[in-house]
Amino acid sequence: ISASRVADTWVKTTCGYCSVGCGMLVGVKGRKAVTVRGNPEHPVNAGKLCPKGLSEHYILTAPGRARTPLLRKNRALTAVSWDEALDTMIEKIGALQEKHGSDALGVISTGQLVTEEFYTLGKLVQLGFRTRNYDGNTTLCMASAVSGYKLSFGSDGPPGAYADLEHADVILLIGANIADNHPILCQRLDRNKKRTLIVVDPRVTKTAMMADLHLPIKPRSDIALLNGIAHILIRERLIDENYIAQHTVGYEEFAAYISEYTPERVAAITGLSEETLIRTALLYGRARAAFIGWTMGVNHSTQGAVTVAAINNLALITGNIGRVGASPFSITGQCNAMGTRESGFASSLPGYRKFEKVEDREDLAKLWNISVDRIPTARGLAYPDIIEAAVSGKIKALWIIATNPVVSFPNHSVLEQALRSLDFLVVQDGFHPTPTSEFADLVLPAAIWGEKEGTFTNSERRVSKVNRIVAPPGEARPDFNIFLDLAGRLGVRDELYPGWTMPEDAYTEWQRISHGRLCDYSNFSWQEIEERGGVQWGGSRLYQDGIFQHPDGKARLHSVPCEPFIEQPNDEYPFILNTGRTVEHWHTRTKTAQVALLHNMVPNAWLEMNPADAAQLQLRPHDRVTVFSRRSSVKNVELRITGIVAPGQVFMPFHFAESNSNMVTLGAYDPISREPNFKQCAVRVERSARN
Ligand code: SF4
Repeated sequence: ISASRVADTWVKTTCGYCSVGCGMLVGVKGRKAVTVRGNPEHPVNAGKLCPKGLSEHYILTAPGRARTPLLRKNRALTAVSWDEALDTMIEKIGALQEKHGSDALGVISTGQLVTEEFYTLGKLVQLGFRTRNYDGNTTLCMASAVSGYKLSFGSDGPPGAYADLEHADVILLIGANIADNHPILCQRLDRNKKRTLIVVDPRVTKTAMMADLHLPIKPRSDIALLNGIAHILIRERLIDENYIAQHTVGYEEFAAYISEYTPERVAAITGLSEETLIRTALLYGRARAAFIGWTMGVNHSTQGAVTVAAINNLALITGNIGRVGASPFSITGQCNAMGTRESGFASSLPGYRKFEKVEDREDLAKLWNISVDRIPTARGLAYPDIIEAAVSGKIKALWIIATNPVVSFPNHSVLEQALRSLDFLVVQDGFHPTPTSEFADLVLPAAIWGEKEGTFTNSERRVSKVNRIVAPPGEARPDFNIFLDLAGRLGVRDELYPGWTMPEDAYTEWQRISHGRLCDYSNFSWQEIEERGGVQWGGSRLYQDGIFQHPDGKARLHSVPCEPFIEQPNDEYPFILNTGRTVEHWHTRTKTAQVALLHNMVPNAWLEMNPADAAQLQLRPHDRVTVFSRRSSVKNVELRITGIVAPGQVFMPFHFAESNSNMVTLGAYDPISREPNFKQCAVRVERSARN
């Protein structure tokens, strides 16, 4: 190691990429982060890191940072002072709200901020700016898991823990390619030498390659599979009748409904053999402790929320919940998606309180010492509905924080139309230019991971400390400071944030607000989180007593129909396009494209196609192809001919702005969670002219 990379000091913190929440030590020399290593004492990763974590310090010296506020003047983004930027923001938004009503402002945040910032932002948006139209990019990844948990258990909150991966005898992963997306969880799984791993995925992903049994189901036949497993479990009496009687509601109707999902019928829908279905059900049903994990293969669907309920059904009828090794477990995406679920103000009120429940609103009003009339009685528009409202002219101003919808939102042309229709667009981000910030009327430069302090909560509800390693570049400020400054200019700072100067003040209030709730942070301070290396709210596992969050304390069994996905292939668009990720990159590559190590490993997008289909289209490996859907096209993508995808299916990563898969994806949403259906749309593939 060269002397320039030998650290003088080490700062303990938590990885800012995915929701696994690995603990790390960042080496600092002078004022520069020069190296990273895994924290051997952190309970999540015990010293291990994936390629993104191992190179995370490079992002702190990346060139593409937003350094100064920029205001559009005479069509060009022009450097201005913070005072001018924030005064203009307040003035423009205020004028539009005055004319069109307070809900003319939409706000889209992220899963990237610290919990202290989410809590501060939620109050600012709903009580300061007085708009209900607030949501996060988390609706693009885990809203269906939230809704599914609420349907089954009466509340959000993943019941299990990563340790369950080490203790389960059967692990069923459905629509979850953890080898690419949550790599350190594979290490946890590898410690379990006795487990049987079943992976359900239409693709032969890296995770499927690790499986004892891979079920390559037809796209979106997961509900039929889950119902079919339930059918066999009931038929074979591999259910926990005591648990069902004591802790659930709806078993009779569920059992009657499930009787239609015979192995023969399910085999026809899923493309699996009846023997495979029966083997899977027997493995799951005979397990002492069975774990089901899922991610975007389930959530990214117009039936995402009910698919989660169908997963929960299996856990409930077999009593595989609230025990060591036994859980239905949503693996989240972003580093602090959980923080926004718990403390945010989008799909629930803070502390999993419900908008529609008067006691919850009164409780919050009392805690905040405000009139209950100021707390909305229903959630506002969800992310896709904010975009549609911008197109139709109901939303006039939009504030986008730390997300890049121009690349990440489905059906790009509608998103672009929405941004062009706005009267005022504010983009607050650590990076500029991004494909989204280029549309902005105002760019607010924000500090990123490593330049500010707070907490992240990972998929297993573990709250870990995030620490400042270096100062933000130029005039960039922590989001927390930007929110407080705006509150001051709105005249609500003293009322909403009395005496607050630092994120710990937000945490202290959040502890009080969450006290006595399922997500209770009140019994661990910042210092204790640091000392204990992360603390799980609710303990290791929720629902150990079998008491759920529905008013009667019982979980609900739901009869879930398996519906075909909306855009079926036809002669003109014969392929089903699936989208996903790769281990080297994060979301829309705002960060990872700037880390040479990661960018050079995977610099471009690709399209996977089965050899039989490629032969029929007379395509060769590395040909440049164009992918067409009914909406638009993605040009000149490199072709990979591979058996990883089945005939009739193609796959593309969604990370790349230059080859944006969301040019062709479908603008269809789950009616309950509002999560987009990123996973299936009909496309045609042709060799590009440029070859
Ligand atoms: Fe970071 Fe996730 Fe990799 Fe852990 S697995 S180092 S949290 S990106």
